[in-house]
Amino acid sequence: MIRTRFAPSPTGPLHLGHAYSAILAHDFAKARGGEFVVRIEDIDKSRARSEWENKIFDDLEWLGLTWSAPVLRQSKRDAAYEFAINKLWADGLLYPCNCSRRDIKESAMAPHGEGKTNYGPDGIIYPGICRQEKYSNQRPQDSALRLDMARAAINCSTIQDQNIEIDGSRNNNNIINTAQFIESVGDVVLSRKSKEVAYHLAVVVDDEAQSISHVVRGSDLKSSTDIHVLLQNLLGYTSPWYLHHKLIRDSAGKRLAKRDDAKSISKFREQGCSPADIRTLVGL
Ligand code: GLU
Repeated sequence: MIRTRFAPSPTGPLHLGHAYSAILAHDFAKARGGEFVVRIEDIDKSRARSEWENKIFDDLEWLGLTWSAPVLRQSKRDAAYEFAINKLWADGLLYPCNCSRRDIKESAMAPHGEGKTNYGPDGIIYPGICRQEKYSNQRPQDSALRLDMARAAINCSTIQDQNIEIDGSRNNNNIINTAQFIESVGDVVLSRKSKEVAYHLAVVVDDEAQSISHVVRGSDLKSSTDIHVLLQNLLGYTSPWYLHHKLIRDSAGKRLAKRDDAKSISKFREQGCSPADIRTLVGL
């Protein structure tokens, strides 16, 4: 069964880029007799707003998209995230970290001398300050938890490339070079000091809970995909296939952002555009 999802964060209006992503995911599933579902990614409680959520549903309906119930809401999923974190902790794959952004920046710059710092999907690659040979069995309550990538890679020695092309074709035999992968992402945070779950873990746990077979999303998230596939392996999930689409850009070539509502769907609606016009505008 093909199942795709659209997973917006209700922190601003949907713009043309979101419409493109939602339409592609919807059409990919429907054209293959599958299902399309929606997930509200509201883990960032300080920024998520229910007004935005209502507008998102309204825009999706106006675009002519239909989705299967129920809508999953990340703010209601703490127990599921906690379960996954506990498993990774029990497997000895997480370690506590109390570094500030500043600690990380200073340490990351130090060995290179020339201000050269390496960046991964989450910003500066963590230089391993809190990583240790052995961790205590007691899980601390007030620290962030990072994934020890080198240990994770021992538990999951091959990482399959799950990327597919927009026409659905794929290369079944691609294996990710684990050493290179570890170096390019570092020990990512999975649970924050505030106990809030991090994006990488939430998205993986939720894609599993919603039985997503194909993740259709923007190419800005491509660098996170191998982290997600690694986590799926560690948690014993079956990985979905990943289809990363082009990003919709403004006339200056900049990726559309939520704060810039010039290209928001509601603006186009106000100007009298039809859903078919939106499809044309994004090249569908
Ligand atoms: N919530 C994310 C966003 O709005 C999407 C996450 C995903 O598709 O994996 O950018």
